[in-house]
Amino acid sequence: MLGFRMKLGKVGADIKGEYITEADMACLSCATNGGTTTLVWKGHPRLGDGFMATATIERKDGLWEYSFRYDGCEVHDRVVESVTFPEFISPRTDETRYLFPAPLGPGRINRPDWPKLKPGEGTLSSRCGFPGFQFIAVFTPGERSFYLDARGTEFRPRIFTFANGERPGTIRFGIEWLRELSGGEGAWMLPARGTFRCFDGGWFEAVEIYRPWARRQRWFAEAAGRRPPERLRDVALWLWLRGLSADILPVVERVKRDAGVPVALDWYWWHAIPYDSGYPNFWPPREGADAFAAAIRGLEGRGVMTQVYTNGHGWDMDDPSWRDGGEADMKKKIDGTWTAIAFNRYDRHRLSYVCGEAPHFQRRFAAVAAHLRASGLSALYMDQIAASGQGVCYNPAHSHAPGGSDGVVEGFRGFAGRLRRALPGMLFSTEEYSEAYMGAYDFFVSCYSCYERCGWGVSPQTEAVPVFQALYHDVMPVAGSYALMDGVPPWDPLWPDKDRWRKEEDWKAKFPDQFALEFARCVVWGLQPTVHQLRIANCDDPRLAADYRFLINTVRFYHANRDLLFDGEMLSPGRLKCDTKAVDFLIRGIYTKEGEYRTVRQDAMPSVLHTVWRSKDGRTAAVLVNWTDEPRAWKLEGAEVSGSGAIPPRSWCRVCRQPATIR
Ligand SMILES: [Zn+2]
Repeated sequence: MLGFRMKLGKVGADIKGEYITEADMACLSCATNGGTTTLVWKGHPRLGDGFMATATIERKDGLWEYSFRYDGCEVHDRVVESVTFPEFISPRTDETRYLFPAPLGPGRINRPDWPKLKPGEGTLSSRCGFPGFQFIAVFTPGERSFYLDARGTEFRPRIFTFANGERPGTIRFGIEWLRELSGGEGAWMLPARGTFRCFDGGWFEAVEIYRPWARRQRWFAEAAGRRPPERLRDVALWLWLRGLSADILPVVERVKRDAGVPVALDWYWWHAIPYDSGYPNFWPPREGADAFAAAIRGLEGRGVMTQVYTNGHGWDMDDPSWRDGGEADMKKKIDGTWTAIAFNRYDRHRLSYVCGEAPHFQRRFAAVAAHLRASGLSALYMDQIAASGQGVCYNPAHSHAPGGSDGVVEGFRGFAGRLRRALPGMLFSTEEYSEAYMGAYDFFVSCYSCYERCGWGVSPQTEAVPVFQALYHDVMPVAGSYALMDGVPPWDPLWPDKDRWRKEEDWKAKFPDQFALEFARCVVWGLQPTVHQLRIANCDDPRLAADYRFLINTVRFYHANRDLLFDGEMLSPGRLKCDTKAVDFLIRGIYTKEGEYRTVRQDAMPSVLHTVWRSKDGRTAAVLVNWTDEPRAWKLEGAEVSGSGAIPPRSWCRVCRQPATIR
């Protein structure tokens, strides 16, 4: 069933949203003319007898293309805050799953625990904004799959929403468009069209519907036109390390020597302020400006590309600097408040989120970036922007229209552009995935390939799948993983010592496969390999020797196969048969207190992970990795590459194209 939903809100007031749906309308008429069906709903007790909502559904190139508008809306004490169209209510089973652009990660498939949900209860949905891709798909075993997209090319916010249906055995899903309030409340139309259709297959087949359109859009052209610099392409491993140079530099040198291929450093906690406090006043460095610059110049001089952590979105509202323009820069919600999160559990300072139009914040940030560039740094990480530099802003002090305008994203994009012009030669990266920021940043950093850990218990009901890579791998580099070899997250000595863990367990014995699986999965998906907080002691620890050897072998393999794993276009994976293995995961982050960790088990992880690629010069090959500690047999059947064989423990192989059918 197809319908719409409108949310009424009030600017500057904290009221509960009020919903209008097609079920409340006085009458519906439906007319078909050629390939176009027009639905007209008329009359509503709240919005007036003259209120009319019109939807068109047009058959085009095997897809149904939709549009939606309304007229004659007479509501004076509220504004139409958002419009959800199309909204579908479909039959489901308890096995129904859906693919969606989650706030974090390259794509996520969710199977809610349906029997536990109340009628109408919402399930995991996308973040409000312009995520890594603009489509969803719904899968029910034994039924055809369903695909729905939004084809807006302006960076206006939308939410891909999901809920348990009000009637038993149904799912409700749709696209909520946040309205830009720019006068003319009586009439409005969706800022973009979109399409839907039934199809056969899973997540990759859904990608194939969206991909031809997506790769014709401006974000693709912007990313493709930039061409990654060779020094980024040359990186075989990102060492994501936190702390003082005395602890970090020996690790970099050791791994660089052992691997024999270029490594890069992603340096956290280089700043004097504690993590998640005092932002954006990152300057000066913890060890002083001179020692910091000497360390950076030493690294860069030895060919180690270095980027440091900063945050491009959060301003500590408990820091005195916030009084200088903080509130004026806030990304305000409809009720006039703003998001502020105390990530730092020790000092409880709240990071408040700025709009893209934030001159006070951006002036402070630009000064930090200039100091960093002057210190010899070649790359800068700006946390949170692609992930959450998005959404709506009702701040009346801003020049963009209030509500769901593209001003928030365009503001952040403009800021990145100004930094780029001011600091030529510097590379910029940001957190997670957004099509809107593909043109503004040189690469993305994502930890969500480690979704068992980073999802804090959402798996095994949800799994990440490399949708973004299947769309854009050949034009948009991504690095990242949270893989920790010894299982111990970093500790900032600026935090209170009493909260430091007194005793570490033998994590390697408890979670023997976690590192290898987490590390391998990001690489096989085509992310630049990344290891988190490797310690110099790990490199010689006999208990970790197999993991360290796997790390070194992986980065060598990655570097030798960058024609696929950095430059390549991801192809249909086909079907791979192999054994499975149960894997236990430790869920523990930097703020987890002693004894408060959680665990999760994946009962049947494929022992061999694989992807299939086409290089820029047209060669097609599969990449396989056996992350387990035993030899494994595999059999691949695909349109592009087929074959079978055995693969030794903790090792990689490249399988070149063989036709699926021998004639
Ligand atoms: Zn704003």
